[in-house]
Amino acid sequence: MFNLTKEQADRARALHAASLIVDTHNDTILHLIKSPPFITSESNPPSPRRTLGERSEHGQIDIPRIREGGVDCLLFAMYVSPLYTARLRRLVQMLDAFTVEVERYPDRIAVATNHREIMKTVKDGKIAAVITVEGGEPLEGSIEALRTIYRLGARSLTLTHFPRNELGDGSGADSGSHLTEFGVEVVQEMNRLGMLVDISHLNETGFWDVIELSEDPVVATHSNCKALCSHHRNLTDDQIKALGEKGGVMNLSFCAGFIKDGIGFGDPEALKKVTVQDWLDHLDHAVELVGTSHVGIGSDLDGGCGFPGLDDVTKFPSLTEGMVSRGYSDEDIGKILGANDLRVFKKVLK
Ligand SMILES: [Zn+2]
Repeated sequence: MFNLTKEQADRARALHAASLIVDTHNDTILHLIKSPPFITSESNPPSPRRTLGERSEHGQIDIPRIREGGVDCLLFAMYVSPLYTARLRRLVQMLDAFTVEVERYPDRIAVATNHREIMKTVKDGKIAAVITVEGGEPLEGSIEALRTIYRLGARSLTLTHFPRNELGDGSGADSGSHLTEFGVEVVQEMNRLGMLVDISHLNETGFWDVIELSEDPVVATHSNCKALCSHHRNLTDDQIKALGEKGGVMNLSFCAGFIKDGIGFGDPEALKKVTVQDWLDHLDHAVELVGTSHVGIGSDLDGGCGFPGLDDVTKFPSLTEGMVSRGYSDEDIGKILGANDLRVFKKVLK
């Protein structure tokens, strides 16, 4: 794909194997949970149920494929559609489903809640799974719910999804609103607890509130560059710079619709127009703005993302090959593959 020399290809393979690779966002739990009700629609049909342990022909992430892709630490998100009337209960079901699934494979994967546990789990030859919540909906406006999900192992919260919720506006329903009083309380409590504030999906006014308010670095677990693709979910150059100045990391997604203008979700023909080179263009752009210490990978696999060449977790080695082809140094590639996120985890997670 990249016309690497044999020497470059060997270097990419060795670097990939030697690096601790982090992927900061997936929606795999949605495909593991067996508890009804499943809120679906024509454009979002129920997916075949899968397990973590068996390699599936469906979907994009399971343990055998994580191994093949060389990924060591993944943030598994719990997304609760606002259509659920009992949102906190749905979150409890997802947390239970994931925990039961992880416990089936104690020698292959374990939940980690801080930097030390991540490093130990990987050293023990296992995949480190960090539990996160995508969208503040399941908190149902309760700070007690935030503290409780923290105690149950969740270590990051994406403040909003596309719509507005009790914390603020998602970028898909941007009225120009600031964070709500509850949103402010949540960010402050997350700082106190040692939880990672995730600004992906948040509207821009809310983003600047978080930048001003948070005492810790913040991350975008799955966002791309607005300068290259105008989707409302993407970050402007000023936002990327602010995230970097605060010590955080922007993790680039594999969502074709956030990489190239005019690509609709769920359109397989349109997906063919996106390549790994386009993803690398987003990487180069972010690096031009903030250097190599504030960029990482947040695939959003199993969340409707991926495109030919980067369509499941086994394809992560292409990213390393692509970075070699674009002249990144060994040190920079190691940072982008995972060391940048690990630096933030070490600083923030307690
Ligand atoms: Zn998302």
